[in-house]
Amino acid sequence: MKPPPFLYCRPATLDGALSLLAEHGDEAKALAGGQSLMPLMNFRLARPSVLVDLALVEELRGTGRRDGELVVGAMVVQRRAERDADVAAARPLIPAALRHVGHLQIRNRGTIGGSLAHADPAAELPAVALASGATMVARSARGDRAIPAAQFFQGPFMTALEPEELLVEVRFPVRGASRTAFLELARRSGDFAMAGVAAVVTLDGLERVAEAGLAGLGVGVTPIRLASAEATIVGRELTEEAIAAASAAASAEVAPMTDVHADEKYRRHLLGVLLGRALRQVGGKSTQGTAA
Ligand SMILES: Cc1cc2nc3c(=O)[nH]c(=O)nc-3n(C[C@H](O)[C@H](O)[C@H](O)COP(=O)(O)OP(=O)(O)OC[C@H]3O[C@@H](n4cnc5c(N)ncnc54)[C@H](O)[C@@H]3O)c2cc1C
Repeated sequence: MKPPPFLYCRPATLDGALSLLAEHGDEAKALAGGQSLMPLMNFRLARPSVLVDLALVEELRGTGRRDGELVVGAMVVQRRAERDADVAAARPLIPAALRHVGHLQIRNRGTIGGSLAHADPAAELPAVALASGATMVARSARGDRAIPAAQFFQGPFMTALEPEELLVEVRFPVRGASRTAFLELARRSGDFAMAGVAAVVTLDGLERVAEAGLAGLGVGVTPIRLASAEATIVGRELTEEAIAAASAAASAEVAPMTDVHADEKYRRHLLGVLLGRALRQVGGKSTQGTAA
């Protein structure tokens, strides 16, 4: 299949890209790595008449620390974030999750911002952003807007971004003492997960959970913050009893879809099992965890 005709623009600056989006409104779409947008256009499920390719916009390709946060530019390629030592040190959940995104060839082209803006409910990075309490920074000709991850994902493939806005960067809070785990199950390596979980947990000096950010993927129309599961563990030690209560709460609070890969009941069950394993990892009761 070939896409319908479109006007192709390749601005060299962020301002240039924003002016094109302001000029063409919802007729235009940003093109990042093209790993989701191009297949959609080829299948004629997306029909933008103007494509604004961000490939030359260097301002969107940086990573670094600012005001206690890890800042990742929207056009940072997924494979680069996966291998970046600073990203791994600040937020090990990011490389842990990125290893599950498609195949190497896809991660070599796909971008951090593209994955978040695409907002696939089964994608890894949106769940990471939600569990981490990340902030998305959107820019338009009118200025910047900071959007908490909890408000960013609004439906399947729908975000809070306006047509003339670009996602320019993502800010992840850095908490040295937090422990993280990412687990998912897919039928084959590289497939989208049937369900998955991202966990960010901070323990106090008595091994009780001081803070928890838990999110599920593949278990609803957006990535889902597992608020009930979080509430069951905050203030408690991660005992088997607490973990079982969190798993049951997580399974009960999601509304997964049935499709050819797995039914709703199985996805609920799977989420509970994966969350239990993730909590054992962050609690130090498994040797497979990612901790920092
Ligand atoms: C075979 C295959 C398997 C895959 N498996 C997985 C998987 O397991 N997990 C997973 O998470 N993903 C998977 N993907 C998708 C992949 O991660 C994509 O890279 C990602 O979803 C989109 O990133 P991109 O940079 O390619 O964005 P594009 O495809 O270029 O854009 C995607 C959407 O985001 C918008 N957009 C992009 N950048 C911006 C921006 N800065 N501001 C505003 N809007 C923007 C575009 O307009 C478009 O609507 C897979 C893709 C393929 C082809």
